[in-house]
Amino acid sequence: MNNIILKKTKELDNWRRNLKGEINFIPTMGNLHDGHKKLISTAKNSNFNINLVSIFINPLQFENKEDLENYPKSIDNDIKIAFSHGADAIFIPSTVDIYPPNEKNIDYLKASKELTSALCGLKRTGHFDGVCTVVYRLLNLVKPKNLYLGEKDWQQLLILKNLISEKKLNINIKSIPTQRDIDGIPFSSRNILLSKNERKLIRLFSDELFLAKNIFKQEKKINLKNITKKLKSNNISIEYLEHLNPYTLERAHLKDNISILAGAIICGKTRLIDHVFLMKRNPIIAIDGPAGSGKSTVTKLIAEKLKLLYLDTGAMYRALSWFLIREKINYHKKNELNKLLENITIVFKSNATGTQDVFINDYCVTEEIRSPEINSIVSKISSIKEIRQYLVEEQRKIGESGGLVAEGRDIGSTVFPDAELKIFLTASIDERAKRRKTELESKDSKEIDFNQLKELIKKRDFEDSNREISPLIKANDAIELITDGYSINEVADKIVDFYNEKIPKEVQNQYS
Ligand code: C5P
Repeated sequence: MNNIILKKTKELDNWRRNLKGEINFIPTMGNLHDGHKKLISTAKNSNFNINLVSIFINPLQFENKEDLENYPKSIDNDIKIAFSHGADAIFIPSTVDIYPPNEKNIDYLKASKELTSALCGLKRTGHFDGVCTVVYRLLNLVKPKNLYLGEKDWQQLLILKNLISEKKLNINIKSIPTQRDIDGIPFSSRNILLSKNERKLIRLFSDELFLAKNIFKQEKKINLKNITKKLKSNNISIEYLEHLNPYTLERAHLKDNISILAGAIICGKTRLIDHVFLMKRNPIIAIDGPAGSGKSTVTKLIAEKLKLLYLDTGAMYRALSWFLIREKINYHKKNELNKLLENITIVFKSNATGTQDVFINDYCVTEEIRSPEINSIVSKISSIKEIRQYLVEEQRKIGESGGLVAEGRDIGSTVFPDAELKIFLTASIDERAKRRKTELESKDSKEIDFNQLKELIKKRDFEDSNREISPLIKANDAIELITDGYSINEVADKIVDFYNEKIPKEVQNQYS
């Protein structure tokens, strides 16, 4: 596609109508810097869509005229930067194009009240309403598949996500982490307005946030008063400094695994924002669901795609079942069982083929635990209280520092109730039996009776769902995915999308 510049909404409309394919949309206010470059090139490299960058200084989001007039403009340079970083087309409308004076029913939107009751929303009244109004107008014109935004403006990102979901627009928001200059300060179009000394101040501010983040890693707490005192002693004028839940923007709770420390400072005439995410452990994805729902294959794929540890808790119940049979343990006798549990170790090790082997007390049981004999007994054994307590504790130890995707029956409800993303994967009985049949026949090449398989799955579903302790249930906050008719890849990609939408790129695997 040739480099296209569109100036009027009519031109955009015509261009849009003749387009074959979807659009990645990157809205900007111009004066493009490395943050914008990263947004444009990320969009370009993520798919084969057409990359449209818009440059429009939206008067509605400025509180005062002077600020609007002083907003840095560099349109010729912007055009060069956008095209050289992967824009296929640039939309540069004028104010009357976006807000035609003769249009009576301009939809002036209000940003979410909850999300504007903190941070920049408190002082910059009307700012986010203006952002919502212009973005909604642009989205209706452009009709993109994906909208690319920076995490630098985290509050704006949340507000726009909320807008898209409220207006039920079929648009994905893709975010990129805050891009920083070599001195650590976030790129911003307003940075060119800073004097040398002011730049030094914002650097001190960013450094202080990063210091707080490192302290939090060790101590799991921060001291807002101390940080404020330190900043003030450096003559930094703070507009706000808050420690919040990163999704609701309410004050951070002790139980929040991820929180945000965000601040705004005033440097001369310029107001600058920065933030860091604080994390107690790396994120966890919990995937639960009945037998044959595709959990294992999907979970392995997700682990690979997101570079997370993979924890197959079913394999632990299976390995233990195998061992109890092998040692001829009467697991109804609590003493005998408890003694055995004290001397058990179950570990997963990667093998040469890149998959995981399961070891129980040094026996490699990867293959054996998939036998029909284990299939028929594992649900019974996994309903025993002592066994569940033991394995849940082991699973929590493995997940202590997070960074994993775990699959089972009770992951979201019992093992990791604070997992950042919970998925309940299911499929109809027929679909699950079909999948099991294909899987078993590919291993054994023997014909397996479909109805018999269906009955076995039903029986296991019943036992897993009706046991007394942590039965198979969908956690309240889990997303249910019915996988009939979807390929494994499609399901895994969907979950990866949920993860990327929820977990800021800035925290993905940052904790070590
Ligand atoms: O997932 P998989 O089929 O390997 O699980 C085997 C069995 O282990 C399940 O049918 C269930 O009885 C038990 N299980 C469990 N809790 C888990 C994982 C598996 O009870 N978290």
